[in-house]
Amino acid sequence: MFADKAIDFYYSYLRYSPLIKWIHNMTASIDFQTLAVNGVLGLHPYQPGKPIEELERELGVSDTLKLASNENPLGASSQALIALQDPLQTLHLYPDGSGFALKNKLATTLTLEPEQITLGNGSNDVLDLIARCFLDNTSNAIFSQHAFAVYHIVTQATGAESRVATAYSADHPSAYGHDLEAMLNLIDAQTRIIFIANPNNPTGTWLKAAELESFLQRVPPETIVVIDEAYFEYVSEEKYPDTTKWLERFHNLIVTRTFSKIYGLAALRVGYCVSHAEIADLLNRVRQPFNVNSLALAAATAALDDREQVVMSSEINRDGLAQWEKACADHDWNYIPSIGNFICVNVGPDAMDVYDALLHKGIIVRPVANYELPHHLRITIGKKEQNQRCIEALEQILND
Ligand SMILES: *Cc1c(COP(=O)(O)O)cnc(C)c1O
Repeated sequence: MFADKAIDFYYSYLRYSPLIKWIHNMTASIDFQTLAVNGVLGLHPYQPGKPIEELERELGVSDTLKLASNENPLGASSQALIALQDPLQTLHLYPDGSGFALKNKLATTLTLEPEQITLGNGSNDVLDLIARCFLDNTSNAIFSQHAFAVYHIVTQATGAESRVATAYSADHPSAYGHDLEAMLNLIDAQTRIIFIANPNNPTGTWLKAAELESFLQRVPPETIVVIDEAYFEYVSEEKYPDTTKWLERFHNLIVTRTFSKIYGLAALRVGYCVSHAEIADLLNRVRQPFNVNSLALAAATAALDDREQVVMSSEINRDGLAQWEKACADHDWNYIPSIGNFICVNVGPDAMDVYDALLHKGIIVRPVANYELPHHLRITIGKKEQNQRCIEALEQILND
């Protein structure tokens, strides 16, 4: 009681006395950690690939080769670049918040209804919308060990529990891949979302249509399954599914895709998901009104017509993966077989030193210790000469 009175008095005094107020401001040290919502304190910021400018500033190197963020070595879709001219005339206007033209184009391309599509500021934004829609501090989300880092971030930020299913071990035929049985075993009444990356980043491992389909049949219909297909357009494996075709059968399915990878529009930030229209309606309620800007909308809409970009990029990628696989075989380097535009190479226990040595040669790749892969480096597939440069650098470093 007395304490309450004293505090009341202090605050009323504080309001009227400039001197007391000044003393208060000088001495008060607020512990902001105690103010943050629950999930946030358990988070670590996402670690992006090192920017080229940063390396050149720090080490004074030039001619830097960045193979760290699964960016397209061919650059952006040329049709997208042309389409960027128009919206430059109207930068003072808000973008079309409904993304009408892009959604319609996507709907035609995917033979779906526009009402089933949600656009995001990159597909990471879509993943965040999904988490905010379906998770809170009473629920949980499941994903695999070694899975894309954003699933944990968006889950944890809502206060929900992240349940990590142990992946297949290094000696399993699907080494490091998602173990769907282990994921099913983690489901309980509080499980709202299961995140699956197909193929997964950083491992490059993937799930075949048959196994993914029987998994979906066994997941309770109240649990949402998010299949992240950021690398969909790169994949030509016969047994790799186009899960957008399954939406009619599985109403709890959400498929996410992006313009950041094969279309080369990573800087513009545009991705999307397709789902049951009722899910899209919910996502639309938490979405920021203008989450996709007008440059991104125009570029993405045009990119969808750019067959050449898709064909050329996947061809270069296929050749580059083969080049890396051969180099690994020749040098006895272990690697995780990948169908993405990147490959995880086992460079041994000193992976961080190898990473540093590559930096000194002007090559940026990605350490993946934070994915529980401390011996691997994830290397983006580049053009032939770029791959060659990285292979030769690695050869020198590992032979030293
Ligand atoms: C690169 C990537 C994305 C795409 O992120 P954007 O926000 O669309 O740039 C999504 N999921 C995975 C697994 C990725 O590797």
